[in-house]
Amino acid sequence: MIAEEIQRITAQLPHGVRLVAVSKYHPAEAIREAYAAGQRLFGESHAQEIQPKHEALSGLEGLEWHFIGHLQTNKVKYIAPYVGLVHSGDSPRLLAEINKQAQKAGRTIPCLLQLHVAQEETKFGFTPDEAMAYLDSGEWQSLTGVQLAGVMAMATNTDDTEVIRNDFSRARRFFETARNRYFANDEAFKELSMGMSDDWHIAIDEGSTLIRIGTQIFGQRQYT
Ligand SMILES: *Cc1c(COP(=O)(O)O)cnc(C)c1O
Repeated sequence: MIAEEIQRITAQLPHGVRLVAVSKYHPAEAIREAYAAGQRLFGESHAQEIQPKHEALSGLEGLEWHFIGHLQTNKVKYIAPYVGLVHSGDSPRLLAEINKQAQKAGRTIPCLLQLHVAQEETKFGFTPDEAMAYLDSGEWQSLTGVQLAGVMAMATNTDDTEVIRNDFSRARRFFETARNRYFANDEAFKELSMGMSDDWHIAIDEGSTLIRIGTQIFGQRQYT
């Protein structure tokens, strides 16, 4: 079933859109199954969970880990040596810490700015105004261990597709404005991470380049 879902989703992806298989709360065995089906890109949202999986699966060639959940600054050091992309760059303080740990690890870590565009209060992230103020500040330009690579957003948790579309559209407009203003000559700023199991078709319509899908591939999460 995991293999079938992966094939079903990837067959529908337009050129330039990649699937992040969100394996949080699923065992390493489920990741092996997805890997056998050709999936290489996996998303996890807890530092204490990604670390043992990374170690258990280190023999799998080409496996790439993305961090997608809120990242506490004191946990950055555990994932800095190997994480391929942090989707959840949600504060200047976190980006500064990722910079520090990346330098210690002798790396540059690609990070997305996580935008808060949903109506719920609880989600982390910059509002579009805060994110633009951060870019305007120029602070990020001294973070040589961080490569800003685009924007991540989650839509409001609702059945109203117009609300979802509007949230994604705001994220896309921010992404385009930021790219034109600060990254016109930087082709690494290219990712728009949006879309989960229930809304990824809309996200792709609105320009997503990375969809993050858990439940549709792996089923209900197995432990919490
Ligand atoms: C869990 C999670 C997902 C995947 O959600 P599903 O609804 O299971 O597809 C995507 N993005 C983030 C940030 C998540 O925490």
